[in-house]
Amino acid sequence: MGAGPTARYVVVGAGSAGCVLAERLSADGDAQVVLIEAGGPDRRAEIGIPAAFPSLFGTSADWGYRTTPQPGLGGRTLNWPRGRTLGGSSSLNAQIWTRGHLADFDGWAEDDGCAGWSAGEVLPYFARAEDRSGAGAYGSGGPIRIEDLRDPSPATAEFLGACAEAGLPALDDGRPLEPEGAGPVRATQRGGRRWSAADGYLRPALRRENLTVVTDARVERILIEDGRAVGVAYTTADGPAEARADGEVLLAAGAIGSPQLLMLSGVGDADELRGHGITVHAHLPRVGRGLADHLYVPLAFEAHGRVTPGVTDRQGEITEFLRGRRGRLTSNLAEAVAFLRSGPGLPAPDLEFVWMLVPFLDQARAARQHGVTLGVVLLRPRSHGTVRLASADPAAHPVIDPRYLSDPDGDDLRVLTEGIHRAQQVLTRPALAARLGAPLTPGALDPDPGTVHALTRTHAETLYHPVGTCGMGGDPEAVLDPHLRVRGVAGLRVVDASALPSLPRGHTHAPTVMLAERAADLILAEAAQHRRGALAGR
Ligand SMILES: Cc1cc2nc3c(=O)[nH]c(=O)nc-3n(C[C@H](O)[C@H](O)[C@H](O)COP(=O)(O)OP(=O)(O)OC[C@H]3O[C@@H](n4cnc5c(N)ncnc54)[C@H](O)[C@@H]3O)c2cc1C
Repeated sequence: MGAGPTARYVVVGAGSAGCVLAERLSADGDAQVVLIEAGGPDRRAEIGIPAAFPSLFGTSADWGYRTTPQPGLGGRTLNWPRGRTLGGSSSLNAQIWTRGHLADFDGWAEDDGCAGWSAGEVLPYFARAEDRSGAGAYGSGGPIRIEDLRDPSPATAEFLGACAEAGLPALDDGRPLEPEGAGPVRATQRGGRRWSAADGYLRPALRRENLTVVTDARVERILIEDGRAVGVAYTTADGPAEARADGEVLLAAGAIGSPQLLMLSGVGDADELRGHGITVHAHLPRVGRGLADHLYVPLAFEAHGRVTPGVTDRQGEITEFLRGRRGRLTSNLAEAVAFLRSGPGLPAPDLEFVWMLVPFLDQARAARQHGVTLGVVLLRPRSHGTVRLASADPAAHPVIDPRYLSDPDGDDLRVLTEGIHRAQQVLTRPALAARLGAPLTPGALDPDPGTVHALTRTHAETLYHPVGTCGMGGDPEAVLDPHLRVRGVAGLRVVDASALPSLPRGHTHAPTVMLAERAADLILAEAAQHRRGALAGR
């Protein structure tokens, strides 16, 4: 066993949340922080090129998960890419920055008992993370650069025209916590290049002597002694090693990695863990339960004109990007969004449209023709699934079963069906008439409910937003308390998308960054309190 570093804080995973923690906890120059990442440095050129993210799927920068066969989707299994490199999933995501809706955070506070997480209380943490110049009510001067796309396709203006023709209002940048209506995306980019959590938070902190970053090091287990987390065991090309923490161990391994690590370390459902021969430290049956994800239905079409990056004059586009970070490769592929309600009486939107400049079928890995896709997203799914251990082998992928469309009342399919009908109304407006060609999703414009259901089951895909597998809550059975502390184990928190008690009405990068920003304050405040207590006790 190699002797590893010792620190006040050991952070597992350098993704959206882990990068925030590494920066904020090392900022005082005093506390030693060790950040351990399973993947390598984020040097691949495709990470920086906004339009290239689908080409990272299936590479060493992707964990390459797959779900179990989904009965609700005709028995299909889905690819679940997750970042495995510095920046984590923020290094291969679609760069859309949406905060979610204030009803989400007020719901966490009121319904889930998450004191401190209401909209009014989380707002300053979004603003602190953001750097968006120009009009609107976003923050400025924070680590995450948010820009308009530099060279969006003319087809995007046509889509927004069609939304207006269909009666959707324009998204209001002055109300970023109440998204409603259609607008161009705000992208995590700087000057036409991706701007990940590693770019915004980690890189500026790397020069600090109190921050150590270990890459290509997979954590296999949390070391728990007398009910307290005291470090982690990890493995590198040189063999096994340990990192010890005299303060806290902070799991930021993401919505799949964090519950898997808890279970491998004896924190989870006691019977299940014993079945795998794992010694139980805390019986927390909800670890790995409560998995929620955004399911969407892609309505894809051939498109007239050069809209899809990489199809016509690929070399010219590369040259244009390299020379001045311009052109179609600066597109994040998903150039506009719209938030809408499936019916009256709802407190907030429950549907989203995502407008993509690519035929987003088979996750766009081999787009060889110009096309567009309108993705219809179910924002508040009632179906929940699980992440379970396949075995006690840390190298084995866990079993991921999102149980899409499994809610007993069939609400999820009903809301998606309404969303598809509304999308069909947008797609048939005059503003898009000259752009759309033949449907690539068979039946995309057929309103017959039977066709819509069949199309949903055959084509629905993940929007890559798993959350909730180590949910926080006021309920004593929740995995985490509202300070993100793992119940039953001292010195251990989970700080990443798995801690979100429910899916926000938007994409998950911004809420995860916000969560980690607030977590850093909670951790530092508790440490200061302990120091004061220790001094007073002398
Ligand atoms: C293809 C794709 C597109 C997306 N598009 C968007 C979008 O446009 N907008 C948006 O808001 N959200 C988007 N998301 C979702 C968003 O990026 C994630 O919700 C967010 O990045 C999650 O952050 P996290 O910190 O929870 O996990 P991650 O960022 O996934 O970080 C977890 C990190 O932990 C590391 N890790 C895991 N296990 C271990 C271990 N055992 N040892 C050491 N390290 C480990 C991983 O390698 C990874 O670096 C997308 C995601 C994907 C995959």
